[in-house]
Amino acid sequence: MTFIETRGNDGSKPSEVTFSQAILSPSASFGGLYVPKKLPSLDFDFLDAHTQSHYKDLCKALFEKFDVDIDEADLNAALDRYDAFDDPEDPVPLVKIEEDAFVSELWHGPTRAFKDMALQPFGYILSKLAEKRGEKYLIMAATSGDTGPATLETFKDAPSVKVACLYPDGGTSDVQRLQMVTEEAKNEKVIGIHGNFDDAQTALKNLLASESFKAKLRESHTQLSAANSVNFGRIIFQVIYHIHSYLQLVNRSEVSMGEAVYLVVPSGNFGNALGGYYAKKMGLPIEKILISSNINNILTDLITKGEYDLTCKSLVQTTSPAMDILKSSNVERVLFDKFGPERTKQLMDDLNEKGKYILSPEELEMLREDFDADFCSDEEGKAVIASYAKKGYIMDPHTATCLKAYENLRRKSLKTIIYSTAEWTKFSPTVCEALGHKAKRDLDALQWVSEHYNVPVPKMISELFEKPIIHDTVIDKEQIEEEILKFI
Ligand SMILES: *Cc1c(COP(=O)(O)O)cnc(C)c1O
Repeated sequence: MTFIETRGNDGSKPSEVTFSQAILSPSASFGGLYVPKKLPSLDFDFLDAHTQSHYKDLCKALFEKFDVDIDEADLNAALDRYDAFDDPEDPVPLVKIEEDAFVSELWHGPTRAFKDMALQPFGYILSKLAEKRGEKYLIMAATSGDTGPATLETFKDAPSVKVACLYPDGGTSDVQRLQMVTEEAKNEKVIGIHGNFDDAQTALKNLLASESFKAKLRESHTQLSAANSVNFGRIIFQVIYHIHSYLQLVNRSEVSMGEAVYLVVPSGNFGNALGGYYAKKMGLPIEKILISSNINNILTDLITKGEYDLTCKSLVQTTSPAMDILKSSNVERVLFDKFGPERTKQLMDDLNEKGKYILSPEELEMLREDFDADFCSDEEGKAVIASYAKKGYIMDPHTATCLKAYENLRRKSLKTIIYSTAEWTKFSPTVCEALGHKAKRDLDALQWVSEHYNVPVPKMISELFEKPIIHDTVIDKEQIEEEILKFI
């Protein structure tokens, strides 16, 4: 499979690249993204053959379909990362919470958020590619809390890759901060920034664009790369669990092969939803993908009104911080798929220059063939958490946003898969409050919920509170460059 660019080709890059090229240098012409030139198709023979498959075997079969330039031995070793999930036989359990609703739990990996699903194997593949080419990479990440820990975990002690991770000091939960600052790996540097997530993100973008910074990195033979969700190396792993979850429904006779289902996806940067869209295009029987947001509801506006307007929005902090995003990068790949490179470039130019773009009524209709959307406030989310806790199921605040879309948007009575993107333990103060108890710190909240609702706190979370702090750097934005160069 080869990859082409969402905004067309400006002549400075090859017109088509391989999978490994798209992974190592993910930025395309005109600031666009790489997308597969042609998606493989999944017929019912393929799906039938894999209803009982182990997760890793399904991954291998899909990689074969995608026909990418990764050695079989490297792919196998990358997939062995799923062995560290709670149940290696079933890394993505599906839990029935209503007669027709099933939660696909994507968070059974080492950092308890769905980022592990893709970042775990992807990190192995990227560092192996770098090692084989004899190249050294610096991966920089700015995080509001989930990407940072997952990136640090996957590249821990990787040869040929260093990681610099920026987080807003005071802007993450205790658990998220501890996951980062207790990470013990010589190739990784974690830096707290005085400021909020936007400050960390802006500082990162400035560095990525700085020629003098890149020149100094070259002096130490280091190239920059990114492991954020615009990297197609992550997206490919996010197609697979949608197929797996559907096959589990077939396997349990909840649907018959070919029967359509709804997906509900709590969305931020749209990587998870894009994986579902590609699975649908490849032939998985999906009626519609229902996009759930918090009150940062720019995706709801896009999908219900055809408007993507940053000028009338400002980012609001919510209890589902991984979805506090206004510039949702992966939407561009859907626009490309539906409207082609010229129109995509025009829409993205409008967004950059005017802060908004507007789809024509026909374009909106095309988008709504595959998607619908709704959003959920923090208060509504807490009510959802409380009501399911009563029935014995504890969910995190991101997952909780999905129930409103599930209730409001389905036009047919079809089975529904709701994606759960974090374990409750990562957001325990919010969950605790939803259940009627105010806890000051994560540790109190974890204990209270665990005792009162009889749910375990996994070892990798409880241990965090006893680990030594390795990274205690907290600095001003202006000092980041110097700090990173010192580390390199
Ligand atoms: C990253 C994240 C999301 C958003 O996923 P996207 O693929 O960026 O849309 C939702 N919930 C949690 C807990 C996350 O960590």
